[in-house]
Amino acid sequence: MSKIKNKTSLKTLFSEAQISKRVDALAREIVADYPKEFLVIVILKGSFVFAADLIRALETNGGSAQVDFISLSSYGLGSNSSGKVTVKQDLIEDVSGRPVLVIDDILESGRTIAFAVEMMKKRHAATVKTCLLLDKPGRRKVDIEADYVGFKIDPYFVVGYGLDLANKYRGLPYIGIIEDI
Ligand code: 5GP
Ligand code: MG
Repeated sequence: MSKIKNKTSLKTLFSEAQISKRVDALAREIVADYPKEFLVIVILKGSFVFAADLIRALETNGGSAQVDFISLSSYGLGSNSSGKVTVKQDLIEDVSGRPVLVIDDILESGRTIAFAVEMMKKRHAATVKTCLLLDKPGRRKVDIEADYVGFKIDPYFVVGYGLDLANKYRGLPYIGIIEDI
């Protein structure tokens, strides 16, 4: 029986084992495409668990990622808003002249990742690619696709593996759908 109590309203969408296998496959693809050293930019907060697993998988597969963090917030997420993205906490590293991989949890409207990519280009990153754990293709408002995607999903609201609902559930080791809230 699961040690995680009171989660009866959560249905598993991707198990720990499924995620781990997929993260390893993504890391192999990235290592094959990137120079040995590059800068991974992690968009907080939702992608920190994914990023932690991915950078270790990169290292295991022969890559060597340096890491920095940026906190972005998007007001009125999803489809029914202006979706203005703002920087809550900026990078420490200078991206200029460096190959960059931007990591985020979910590609939905596309506004967050489009904003991040534009920012890296303005700061003269040598190259910019994106890696998203999840992609909800039906929800796009901006014309952008990720270079690497973990899983494509239908437009469910998902939690776990770093993803929250009101800052809860981030520590769940699997990705789940909330069935009755
Ligand atoms: P967008 O692509 O719309 O700019 O932003 C996607 C962001 O919305 C994600 O980074 C994430 O923070 C949030 N988001 C979108 N869908 C979900 C979801 O199903 N669950 C959670 N927890 N956050 C989501
Ligand atoms: Mg986010």
